[in-house]
Amino acid sequence: MLFEHIPASVAVGGLFWWFDPNPVYFFIALVFGWLVDVDHLFDYLLWVKRSCCKPSIRDFISGKYFKDSMKIYVPFHAWEWALLLVLIGIQSGGRMRYFLCATFALMLHLIHDQLTNKPFLFSYLISYRVYHDNRIESFCRL
Ligand SMILES: [Zn+2]
Repeated sequence: MLFEHIPASVAVGGLFWWFDPNPVYFFIALVFGWLVDVDHLFDYLLWVKRSCCKPSIRDFISGKYFKDSMKIYVPFHAWEWALLLVLIGIQSGGRMRYFLCATFALMLHLIHDQLTNKPFLFSYLISYRVYHDNRIESFCRL
């Protein structure tokens, strides 16, 4: 969970750097391709608050809080953000390549999670999750 998205993120940063040598692409790709997973902290802290458990790194890394709480929010994991990044990029004038870098990094993250976590087809749409009240049984098979 912690490091699995780094290679793809670095590759996206490297691809954009190859066309336009600017190290900022690595930063952008790591933020949108790797640090997206910081939103697990949102789900974890909700679980800690509701369960009255003491926070622990082991519980956080285990991911058991998803099943215990029967909810899944992961607010940064959403195809809608990729679309929004493209739309903002179109409006940004000459900065489109930065938004494209962010979009590709986020898309690779979502594709990787889609393939490895085995959620339902629309689970990484935030609108789908909200419609289903963020219930975990509408996100994946238990
Ligand atoms: Zn993820």
